[in-house]
Amino acid sequence: MPGYTAPDETKPTPLARRTISAQNLLRAAWAEHGTRFAIVSSFGADSAVLLHLAARVDPRIPVLTLDTEKLFPATHRYRETLTAQLGLTDVRLLKPDAVTVATRDPLGLLFDQDPDACCAIRKVDPLASALAGFTAWANGRRRDQADTRRGISSVEAEDGRVKLSPLADWSADEIEAYRLAHDLPAHPLVDQGYKSIGCMSCTTPVQAGEDARAGRWRGLEKTECGLHQAAPVVTLFPTPKPSNPSQVSISGSGDRVSHFPQVQSSPLPAAERPERLTDLDALEAQSIFIFREAFARIRPLALLWSLGKDSNVMIWLARKAFLGEIPFPVAHLDTGLEFDEAYAFRDKYAKEWNLNLIADSCPPIEATDPTLPPGARVAARKSLGLAQTVERYGFSGIFAGIRRDEQATRAKERVFSPRGLDGTWDVRDQPPEFWDQFNADFPPGTHIRIHPLLHWTELDIWRYIEREGIPVCELYFSKNGKRFRSLGEKGITEPFPSEASTIAEVIAELAATRTSERAGRTMDHESEDVFERLRAGGYL
Ligand code: SF4
Repeated sequence: MPGYTAPDETKPTPLARRTISAQNLLRAAWAEHGTRFAIVSSFGADSAVLLHLAARVDPRIPVLTLDTEKLFPATHRYRETLTAQLGLTDVRLLKPDAVTVATRDPLGLLFDQDPDACCAIRKVDPLASALAGFTAWANGRRRDQADTRRGISSVEAEDGRVKLSPLADWSADEIEAYRLAHDLPAHPLVDQGYKSIGCMSCTTPVQAGEDARAGRWRGLEKTECGLHQAAPVVTLFPTPKPSNPSQVSISGSGDRVSHFPQVQSSPLPAAERPERLTDLDALEAQSIFIFREAFARIRPLALLWSLGKDSNVMIWLARKAFLGEIPFPVAHLDTGLEFDEAYAFRDKYAKEWNLNLIADSCPPIEATDPTLPPGARVAARKSLGLAQTVERYGFSGIFAGIRRDEQATRAKERVFSPRGLDGTWDVRDQPPEFWDQFNADFPPGTHIRIHPLLHWTELDIWRYIEREGIPVCELYFSKNGKRFRSLGEKGITEPFPSEASTIAEVIAELAATRTSERAGRTMDHESEDVFERLRAGGYL
């Protein structure tokens, strides 16, 4: 049939992929945290899928469920049915403290007078007490459930615990398809129009076209019970004000949003946004601050693009910082040894992101220090290439996408790091950066490296890639059972065994790994001090 392409039966469907990712995430958390990992479930309309996935990992995983004493009787029956069918062996019912209820809500009508206080004593406090014994937990939230959930990430940190949302990127249709495929019973109220099921007093059915949670606290501004407030608080930066145009692209709202069509960080108008920032919001805000601070004080500037995931995130942040157009060149130090896929990625996204790309060739290996080991000499070509680029174009400041958690020598870095004119770095002579007070005032002629990602971790980078939909080179994903975790040149970078072929699978893998990110970099194994020698000599 013209225009018809038969489905490729050998490729997993999107639902199969999501199933593997979600299960990997749960498996990794169970392996890492053991009985200090729990599932939190309401045994509501969509709960069967997460519970089924968890039961397949291990039916002994503790399941915490709140009995607010206001639940529908059908929910109690559904809990008993699902528990038996899935073989769950550790379902724990969390009840509100009887004395607190007797004093604060003696008539049981607090939900009508002060629903936040009612949720606090019947849900938030009991769960907080129960979670005190756990280091990680998973819940069934999805981005498509409500506007207020569009920014959730599959792995978050909250109150010192790992919080997983393994179904974050599933759609309602996929949840239903999975439920049917595994013959899981539906909550009896779903047929009556209840798409999200909480307490009897505060839940109504939803109409066609309403989002699934529209029936919760209908008529009130309240949209969440308080169990899922925005995560970790960082007070370095104030909540964006709607009148500040420089924040427009960060929030993904307003005219500039077309530069970042996949931004999901905050679907709300700024005036309605919660007071708190998520940890990714705070990391993003600090990086954007660093970009703007550098641009205000140091010229001319350039950004180094290694073609890897970190520098892609750096470019993304720079585009946000400068409202879509990066106002300085982006330099790729080309050894001629990048993988073909990396070159293809560079050429595609240099155009798509409208970058002013400099791609000068690095000096040959013969020009490098012959006392370095062979792999390190290949890497040292980049140091020479950088010195050459700085000299050729007269750059005073260079943005580099290094992170403290990558390598011990990089952990000694500063965000604004003065260098010798030849790129050399004296680790014993660096300005303090107490409480993130950056010193960006240097004497004229000082050459500065600026590190906008220094405070990020590898997992942060992937969670942000997932949240923002940032493109990355295909080599990061499993092919023939292997993938690259840190992307360098051919001959000095090795892939490692991995089945992670999606961003969610990469995140799940990283959440459980104990292997260093740079384990595949040849030069890191050649001698104990080689990385420090390279960096002192100007390497990134
Ligand atoms: S959902 Fe309603 S009844 Fe249930 S705890 Fe919250 S306010 Fe109280």
